[in-house]
Amino acid sequence: MKRVVIVICDGLRADMVNEENTPNLMRIAMAGMYFKAHGGVFPSTTRTTAASIGTGCLPGRHGLEGNAVALDLGEGLQVFSVGPPGFRDKLHAATGRTLKVPTMSERVKDVGGAVIYANASPGAGIFLDPDGHGHMIHRDMATGPGRTTIPPHACGHDTAGDAEMTKRFIDDVLVKQKPAMALLWQCEPDNTQHGVSMGSPAHIDAIRSADAQAGRVFDNLQHDIDKGDVLFMVASDHGHETIGEIVDLEDILIDAGLKSAPGSNDVAIAPQGLSATIFLSNDAKDRRDAIADVLRNDSRIGGVYVGDEIAEIGLDPKGGIDIVAVGKDTDEPSDDGVPGTSVAFQGDIKISNNVGCGQHGGLGKYEQSPFLLCAGAGFQASSESKDKTSAIDIAPTAMRHLDLNEGGMDGRALQS
Ligand SMILES: [Zn+2]
Repeated sequence: MKRVVIVICDGLRADMVNEENTPNLMRIAMAGMYFKAHGGVFPSTTRTTAASIGTGCLPGRHGLEGNAVALDLGEGLQVFSVGPPGFRDKLHAATGRTLKVPTMSERVKDVGGAVIYANASPGAGIFLDPDGHGHMIHRDMATGPGRTTIPPHACGHDTAGDAEMTKRFIDDVLVKQKPAMALLWQCEPDNTQHGVSMGSPAHIDAIRSADAQAGRVFDNLQHDIDKGDVLFMVASDHGHETIGEIVDLEDILIDAGLKSAPGSNDVAIAPQGLSATIFLSNDAKDRRDAIADVLRNDSRIGGVYVGDEIAEIGLDPKGGIDIVAVGKDTDEPSDDGVPGTSVAFQGDIKISNNVGCGQHGGLGKYEQSPFLLCAGAGFQASSESKDKTSAIDIAPTAMRHLDLNEGGMDGRALQS
């Protein structure tokens, strides 16, 4: 039976995939096609990209336009993190929906089903299958078809946890269950990158760990890949850049008289790491251009998008976001010599931003350069593609291999 197996190494930059750091990924590249111009979505945040990988659609289409979003639950706009398990129900209560388009789990539910093992935040796992068409197993929570509660897979949110989850993914999912779509989302190297200098020994160790787990999955599948039954895709969701400086947009807009108070619901600022999305209440819509002017005049901000301009970066101008600010990024290296430095943001909620460590969420060159490898299903050994590809191409490529309809997606099935 035809099957698709996907392994995500969260946050691994394309330019850090090489013989020294990732010998297993290089082996997988030799067994298939290495996509050399792969790109991410905006914001380059994990939960947003999980929904894009799951649906084949840009954030403006699937509707999860950030790792934090503003919702009105009856008391005006308030910013919520998408990470905790309870966010999905808040989104449903505020909008009457989860994602606006079907996931791979929904598309395969009657033809072999989907099993997802996810070790990033709960939200990143949930938004791969928010309506419970298949199984989604996380260390903190897990759901089966119909969103029934099933036992979680207790493990660490670290390299050891990824290793443990990979072992169970191989033993239970690949060897026994063999669903049509199996996806393993490792939290590394992203989890480590957020707290260390890019290129430091701790960072390289985390990359090697993620690489080793991808290699274990590959070794288990090699026979079925060679037969043509299994399409094996290994990718990252986004890259990382170094935080050079942190800018709190809440302070800036309060000082400018354009937001009334910290956490006020007139102007809701959702921090995305190296970008921020701003939602205006009806009473504050007329402040849009004044806010955009203040942001454009701040030398630490690299780009400001308002109104229809936000469609250019893959968001929905009618989806609730009024203004997008992107951190100014440069090629300046980290303390350990890895290029790419950007400004990070805080907003109505305060997220983990560490100066000198990795972050993402913006439009910088390196955070927008994840990697992608495809083996089996006609992807020729030792082949390479320089065509521009995107995270949204993974789902249509998977559906084509399974002979299922890939219609309604923004991405395209990649040529083998
Ligand atoms: Zn991250």
